[in-house]
Amino acid sequence: MAHYNFAAGPSALPDAVLTAARQGLGDWDGNGQSVMEIPFTGEAFARIHDEAVAALRQLLAIPSDYRVLFLQGGAYGQFSLLPMNLLRGFESADYAVTGHWSQRAANEARRYCQVNIVADGATSGFTDILEWTEWSLDPAAAYCHITSNETANGVQYRQWPETGAVPLVADITSDFLMAPLNIRRFGLVYASAQKNAGIAGLTLVIIHQSLLGRALPITPTVFNYELLAAANSRVNTPPVWAVYLAGLMFKWILAEGGLEEMAVRNRRHARWLYQAIDQSGFYHCRVAGRARSSINVCFELPSAQLQQQFLVEAEARGLHNLKGHAAATGLRASLYNGVSEAAVSALLAFMHDFARCHASAV
Ligand code: PMP
Repeated sequence: MAHYNFAAGPSALPDAVLTAARQGLGDWDGNGQSVMEIPFTGEAFARIHDEAVAALRQLLAIPSDYRVLFLQGGAYGQFSLLPMNLLRGFESADYAVTGHWSQRAANEARRYCQVNIVADGATSGFTDILEWTEWSLDPAAAYCHITSNETANGVQYRQWPETGAVPLVADITSDFLMAPLNIRRFGLVYASAQKNAGIAGLTLVIIHQSLLGRALPITPTVFNYELLAAANSRVNTPPVWAVYLAGLMFKWILAEGGLEEMAVRNRRHARWLYQAIDQSGFYHCRVAGRARSSINVCFELPSAQLQQQFLVEAEARGLHNLKGHAAATGLRASLYNGVSEAAVSALLAFMHDFARCHASAV
C-alpha cells in the first residue's frame, strides 16, 4: 500500500531529495566521509553552503542588497531574535495577529518592546484577515510583523500591507518556496526549514542590508544578524546536515521548474481539496474564501467522533498526519511541495468514500 504524509512540518520530502540525501549520508566526497562528518570551517562545507545560498537566490530572485542568513533556533527563536536585532533606536513594533503563530510572535516581542496590535483576527475566530487598509499602523514602529500563512488555522495573505517607511517583516515559514515572492516588498523574511526547505534545525533569514546593525546590546553573538552576515552564517557550528538538505531541496525545486511551477501545482491541489470540501455538504471549512490557505487546508466534520473515525480510517488507507493543530479543533491537510499529486488524489478519493459512508448517519 502507498503511504502519504500530510504533516504540517516536519513534512513530506520529495523522493528525489531523499535519494540524493542517502548519498550525502555515506562516502560523500570520496574520502570516506559523510556530510555530517565534515568540518564546518573547511572548503567542502563552504561549497555546500554557497551552493545552497546561490540556489535560493536564483529561486527567489533575491536582490544583491539582501543577505541570506542561516541560523538555528527555529522560527519560534526568531520571535525573540527579531526584536533583539531590529529595535535599537526604537520603542515599539507593529504586529498583525491573524492566528496561532502571529499571536506567539507578538507575545515574545512583548519581552523587548511595546507591541501594537494593528489587526486582531481573534474577533473573527482567526477565520479571516482584516483588510490592511483598516489596520492602525504606527509610522514610528521599528517594523511591522505579519505571518504570511498561518499553519495552525489555515489563513493566508493574498495581498501585502503597505507599511510606508516601516519595514515589513514576515514569518513565511509555511508558504516559503510555494510561489514566487517579491522580496523587495519586505525588510526581512524568515522561515524554519522543515516544511519546504528540508529538515528541522535550520532557520533562514533574508534581510535587507540596511537593517543590519540595529541589534540591542543583549543580542547573543551567535544570533546577531550583522555578525552572522559578516561571517557567512558561520559564527559558530552551523547545522551542516540541514544546510545540505536545504541545498538539495532548492536544487530540486529549480529542476522541477522553479517557484512558478510550485505555485501552479499548489493552487491545483488546493482548488481540488476546497472544492471537495465545499461541495460535499459534509465537510466544512470555517475560513473565509478570500483568506483560505492554499497550503494548510483546515476542515471539520459534523462531530468530534466522526473526526476521530476519519483519522483512523485514513491511517488504514495510508493517509497520515491529517489531525489538525492542537490549537484548532478540526483536521488539516498540508500541501507542501513534497506532497505529490498522487497523494492529493488518494486523499480526495478517501474523503469522497468516507462522506458517502457516513453522511446519512448525520
Ligand atoms: N511560525 C509558523 C508559521 C509555523 O508554522 C511554525 C511551526 N509550525 C513556527 C513559526 C515555529 O517554528 P519552529 O517550531 O521551527 O520554531
